[in-house]
Amino acid sequence: MSKIIASAAIRGAHNLAKEAEEIYNKAVKAKGADCEVSFPNTGYFIPIIYSMTGIAVEKLSDFDEVFVIIKGLLPDFVDDEMWLPYLGPTLDAGMATLFAEEIIEACKYLVGPNPVDDFWLGAADDVIMRERGIQFVDGTAPGFAAIVGAAPDVETAVAIGRKLQERSLYVFMAASDKGTSFAEQLAEGGVQLGWETRLVPFGRGITSAIYALGFASRAALSFGGVQPGDYLRNLLYNKNRVFAFVMALGEVTDEWYATAAGAINYGFPTIADSDIPEILPTGVCTYEHVVSNIPHDKIVEKCIEVRGLKIKVSEIAIPVAYSPAFEGERIRKEDMHCEFGGNRTPAFEWFNTLDSSQVEDGRIEVIGPDVDTVEPGGQLPLGIVVEGTGRKMQSDFEPVLERQVHTLINEAQGVWHMGQRDINWARISKDAFKAGFRIEHFGHILHAMYHEKYSNIIDKVEVKLYTEEEQVVKLRDKVRAVYAERDKRLAGMTDETVDTFYSCTLCQSFAPDHVCVITPERSGLCGAYSWLDGKAAYEITPTGANQPIVKGAVIDGTLGQWEKVNEFISSTTQGKIAQMSAYSMITDPMTSCGCFECISAILPSTGGIMIVNREFTEMTPCGMKFSTLAGTVGGGNQTPGFIGHSRFYIGSKKFISAEGGIQRIVWMPAALKESMREVLIERAKEAGLNGEEFLDKIADETKAISEEEVLEFISGAGHPALEMDEMF
Ligand code: SF4
Ligand code: ZN
Repeated sequence: MSKIIASAAIRGAHNLAKEAEEIYNKAVKAKGADCEVSFPNTGYFIPIIYSMTGIAVEKLSDFDEVFVIIKGLLPDFVDDEMWLPYLGPTLDAGMATLFAEEIIEACKYLVGPNPVDDFWLGAADDVIMRERGIQFVDGTAPGFAAIVGAAPDVETAVAIGRKLQERSLYVFMAASDKGTSFAEQLAEGGVQLGWETRLVPFGRGITSAIYALGFASRAALSFGGVQPGDYLRNLLYNKNRVFAFVMALGEVTDEWYATAAGAINYGFPTIADSDIPEILPTGVCTYEHVVSNIPHDKIVEKCIEVRGLKIKVSEIAIPVAYSPAFEGERIRKEDMHCEFGGNRTPAFEWFNTLDSSQVEDGRIEVIGPDVDTVEPGGQLPLGIVVEGTGRKMQSDFEPVLERQVHTLINEAQGVWHMGQRDINWARISKDAFKAGFRIEHFGHILHAMYHEKYSNIIDKVEVKLYTEEEQVVKLRDKVRAVYAERDKRLAGMTDETVDTFYSCTLCQSFAPDHVCVITPERSGLCGAYSWLDGKAAYEITPTGANQPIVKGAVIDGTLGQWEKVNEFISSTTQGKIAQMSAYSMITDPMTSCGCFECISAILPSTGGIMIVNREFTEMTPCGMKFSTLAGTVGGGNQTPGFIGHSRFYIGSKKFISAEGGIQRIVWMPAALKESMREVLIERAKEAGLNGEEFLDKIADETKAISEEEVLEFISGAGHPALEMDEMF
């Protein structure tokens, strides 16, 4: 163990602790010790402090306790001559550093400079956290790179940034070197920053690195079911499941060392381009802890190797890069060469199954003019017809595969896609066009990726791309009839008409006791898996996270309990969950991981329930915001009175049908109500109510914020829940 590193890290930790005290005193003086302090819209308080110590900081004076811990952790100064045989004191200094840095950043929200401005993003709220966290769960994001400092020049920064994006990693950026920062260099190089492109500028100071580590801590609490204060499990969780590392670019200051020491606690190693002392032997991290002197053209590979990441890069014959990290790229009108659909030109996409003899694998045909015939900023019609065949292919899988067109095309750099069916919309950027991207490349992408991802069900793929208006319109009419036919079939499918449900245990990698049971009338709680998706996924990967569950004998038809379903749940949760009801939020409700689109919670005095969706960040009548409520519901537990669920489930005939269904809804955010209007009216009519009137009886945030106000509102409105039996 290098004494030089130890002394630098310890010096840095002391400096930051002092800085924390100064800004804290300033904040107390300006705002008072009782002033509320928080990062915006999170249920995890000040997350590193909360997750490691269990202290839920709500007001400034709550930091007093944390300062005591920091003092306890801070080792005495060591001089460079002293030999330190263990990492221990360095690690302690690192943890003290992270606490101090969180105090600094939290106080900045009160007394400035505000961590958020036009460029820097500051703390991620819980909506982003869960939305992005799920990508770590399902593997679309293998991990994150925390970059501190700046590259020697803009080109190097762009090259490193692109390489990380191509490997689908998130890039969290903090600190600066020689007056600039990696994030600013990327921006100067014309690279789009933000959560969508996985390039996240947290802040200009080293202290903003805690937003990256706070993200990791919250992942452990939210997806891993780790209890606040259980620092050991939190750190182990991160070491084993969150593949992250620190890339230090430029002069490593004492404060950087101290922060790097904090990251080592999580098992996140530091890889530096400068000549700093290394910490090679293993101990906390999987391999080396600090590796230095790495040239810029090798640094990404080195980071991946040191952290022990496994990454698959798809090679497709297109002139632009391809990776999930490009999925969130936007292409503005000024930057686009050509667009298709989006109500500007006729367009559609269709996955069609044909007989094997009718499909020539790899054949890509462009029928009509190509993008080099249009002026920059121009438009073309586009009909995408994918013809697939395979021994295990079923027509049921067509909609599932067709929806993939969106993701697959979007992952190409400089290509943007939205919507599906005949409401699709795509753009090719000027840069992509210059690089040589043409219409046929849509076909190359689809051909390569359908083979790559769906080799189990698809044997041959051929793609036809139509760009001639008359032909596109004609084909679109034909395809619309196919869409209508599909919808009719899907609408007729109920839980009773199938004998098999599908499980999803994808989230078990983060929430070990959670299983989604997906039925035709209840989709996975993240909203991403319908019953058909589950069925297709099982055919594609028979040993994967989606397994068929033959229902078996009915135990209770009202609650939605079946013999084999219970057996399945019990065996996949090691007996922790013995039974589960598909249609009840009171008796043996389904567990929740953390990815739910909505939460339903009972409001006891009203006889009804409230539903809140993830996008609604204000206070709700149960006295908690979505983020706090999510902490109560999630983690793979059964919590009677509370369930996480998809939006789709609200409109299902089986929505808490054991408790009386949608007639129990007494409160929901106005925007959610509006977006579900049609289907809610339909359900209400089936229940013998006047649909429109019923909707008006449901309170929203403009009518009521507390449970008392909800009761008052629905009493005035004569809401049917008032007449129903008690829920418990
Ligand atoms: Fe996770 Fe359930 Fe969605 Fe599967 S369906 S990814 S288990 S939330
Ligand atoms: Zn989940």
